[in-house]
Order: sequence, then structure tokens, then C-alpha cells
Amino acid sequence: MTATAFVVNSSVSSDFSGGNWDLVPPLAVVGRDVRVPLVTGGDIEYAALDYAASAPCLQRVWDDVAAYLPYYGSVHRGAGYLSQLSTDLYESSRATVAAHVGARPDDLVVFTRGTTDSLNLLASALPHGTRVFVFETEHHAALLPWRRRSGVTHLPAPASPAEAVSVLDAALAADGGDGPRLVCVTGASNVTGELFPVAELAAVAHRYGARIVLDAAQLAPHQPVSITELDVDWVVFSGHKLYAPFGAGVLAGRSDWLAQAEPYLAGGGASKAVTADSVEWNDGSARHEAGSPNVIGAYAIASAFRALAEVGFEALAAREEALSARLRAGLAGIPQVRTLELFGPESARVSVVSFVVDGWNSSRFAAALSAEYGIGVRDGLFCAHPLVRRLLGARTDAPAECGAPDAPTGEQNLNAIRVSFGAGTPEEHIDRFLGAVRELVRGGARWTYRTDGGRCVPDADPRGPVAAAGVR
Ligand code: PLP
Repeated sequence: MTATAFVVNSSVSSDFSGGNWDLVPPLAVVGRDVRVPLVTGGDIEYAALDYAASAPCLQRVWDDVAAYLPYYGSVHRGAGYLSQLSTDLYESSRATVAAHVGARPDDLVVFTRGTTDSLNLLASALPHGTRVFVFETEHHAALLPWRRRSGVTHLPAPASPAEAVSVLDAALAADGGDGPRLVCVTGASNVTGELFPVAELAAVAHRYGARIVLDAAQLAPHQPVSITELDVDWVVFSGHKLYAPFGAGVLAGRSDWLAQAEPYLAGGGASKAVTADSVEWNDGSARHEAGSPNVIGAYAIASAFRALAEVGFEALAAREEALSARLRAGLAGIPQVRTLELFGPESARVSVVSFVVDGWNSSRFAAALSAEYGIGVRDGLFCAHPLVRRLLGARTDAPAECGAPDAPTGEQNLNAIRVSFGAGTPEEHIDRFLGAVRELVRGGARWTYRTDGGRCVPDADPRGPVAAAGVR
């Protein structure tokens, strides 16, 4: 590539109607063919089934980032050519994100470190006295930031989308008094994958003069999320769940509360003019983006949106639904498996399934899937303790040590297993996973496991320390 070959791609596409309706092949992701060693000997292609935690990088995103890297420069500060190119790229990425989240003309798009950071930023910008309403089923990132400075009403776990709407309606009706109110809701549960009725909840919130922020961490990788169509006030999400793992996230939405708030971080970029004893803060997104911006992270998110939109969210969703149906039918055919659900088996969802296996400690099950089958899932309470404990049966003990005997058949499990996938997942990974679950349930683990530093690990691991060729 010549020194001037890198062109800032500022084309802004918000066309989600493309793609075709036949099942598209899995999208190319970096690491698709990585092999991992097994405790039982040999190695196997890694089956990444933990997309809900962090999805692999789209090859397209990596190609875009790699093409840009030689031209990397400081953003908003430098006089040099590459600084200006990088600044253009950062700002055009903001415009791309704005278009892809259906932002209103006067909305702000603030680049953050991720969903947790975005929600903490919004919490820091709430007008004094704001009362926050949040379902107890939320991820901790959406449950906790408000507690520091606002009055929080925890709404009980709804048993259906319709109940979610009526619970919020009743809570807002019962909450007398003036003053600002904010509802925080997830688009898709990180535990059950089930969709919350965001547009209906937004309509209820607005009917009572409240505002609403949508936690789209689990939704944005699977569906187009439009601020305008859903009529939400803000949307937040993370790049690393959107196939763009370069340390950035987004808070997009109404500017007024953000404009009136103290900057989230004090420092360069957020400040316009500074003397020894005074500071004039910047307006707009810059006010809350102090420090050197993460241009690679922002560009990666824009690149991911473009790549997903080019294939078409409908086509991707059709493929994920087909794989989900296969996964869920397979699990349903194993009598020892119980999937965790809030709204019931027929509810709309993204490709996230949590479950327990009767007679098994979930951590040991997940460890065996990894060590004996090369399959990466997640175990635990998924940073949603109130919800998972409720779904497990209301026990609030700490998770059992995985070295302890398994829960006897019929007893409650203390934590769960989560399998999740997305645009890069090939069909055979779902089949391999189902085969492994059946084999473990039927024949038991072939290895022994112990607890080490809170993790369940193989006893006397013949694979040695975890390492990868070329990773220093
Ligand atoms: N909200 C939901 C629904 C999530 O699933 C997660 C992460 O798992 C978060 C928020 C927090 O995201 P991050 O860790 O990227 O800040």
C-alpha cells in the first residue's frame, strides 16, 4: 500500500434491508480455525460459543483496522497529515454509528470504553434528583451505576413481555412527584436471550414524562437498533460484543442532560480553556471524551456496522434463528438439561441459551466442555445475580466449589452454563456442542477437575500453561 492509499471511508449506510433470505454462510471471523489442545490428547478446532461475553473479531473489521494502522495518528490534536486523517476517521466513524443507530439530528454519539462505561457516564449526567426505574433482571452494568447518586426503584422480574409493560406502567403511575425520571432496560437478556418489548416500554415511559435508555449490549450484534424507530432516549452498547474488540463502546442519544452535566472525566479534550483556577468545558461529545480518543475502537465499531449491514441483519437473523432452533431442540431432547427462561419457550430471543444439567455442577460441566471437547462456553451467574438466582430457584448461596461433589440429581444447581453464538458460528459448532453435552450426560467426564482461584480446572493438566504460538 502506498502512503496515500488509505482512504477514509465515510460512506454512511443505514440500509438494513439488503442481504438475501437464503441462509447466508457464517461470516469470516479472525481465529475461526484456531486449534486448542485437549486434556485427553491431540487438539481440535476451537468452538467459540461465548459470543454474549465477547464475540470474535470480524475478518472485515480486522482488515479495515490493519489497513488503517500504518496511518494511525493522534486525534484532534496533531497538525500532521496522519493526525488529520485519523481525526477524519474518528469523526466519520461517529457519523457512521449515528446513522446505524438511527440517531436524531441533534443526538450525541459519545465513544466510551463499553456498555458499563456508557451507563456510568449517563448515571453521572443525570439531573439532580432523577429517579431511576430498572428491572431486577438486568445485567449488573444496568443495575448498579444508578445506586451511587439516584433513587432507584427495582421492578420485579416480569413473567412475560406484556407484564414488563404493565409493571413499568404501574410503577411510574405509583411514583408521585415531579422531577426527572429514567427507565433503564435491556433489549435482550444476557442470561436467557429473551427480547424485552423496548418500543412499548419507551411509549409507557414517555407517557409519564420519563426518559428511557436501552442497553443494547446483547441486541445490537443481532438486530438493527434504531433510536428513532424504538423512540428511546439513549442507546448503549459495546464494540467487543459487536465483532469489534478494540476497547470502545457507545452512548448515543439526547444531548441536553449530557450538555448540562459535569464532564465524565476531567482532562484534555473535554476542556476548551483552562487557567490555574478556572476551566471552560467543551460542548458536544468532546465534553465526555477527555483523554486521547480510541480511534481504532471507534473505527472498528463503524466497520462492524457496515459489514453487518452489507450482509443484511435479516439474513444474519434468519441464520441465527435456524441455528438457535437446532440448538434448543437438541437441548430439549436431553432430559437432564433444564434451560432457563423468563418469558417461556415461545418468546422472541437472540442466540443466547443458559441451562443447568441435573446432577452436575455447572462449572465442572463447562470445564469439561472446554478441556475434553475444545468448546468455550461460560459458567456462573453472568453478572446478573438476581436474575440467575431467581431462575435457578431462589437460592442465594455462593456458587459451590467445582471440586465439591456434583449436586445430587434433583437438587438445585448454584450456577448455570451459558452457550451463545452469532454471525461467525458454523453449524458444526452447534452440532459438536450438542454431541458433547449428550456424551457428558451419558458417560460422565473423562477427567477430574478441581477449583483453582475460583475457576474449575483440570486436575494434573497435561497441556501445561495456557499459551498460544506467537502470543508474547
Ligand atoms: N449489558 C448487558 C446486557 C451485557 O450482556 C453486558 C456484558 O455482558 C453489559 C451490559 C456490560 O458490557 P461491557 O462489559 O462491555 O461493559
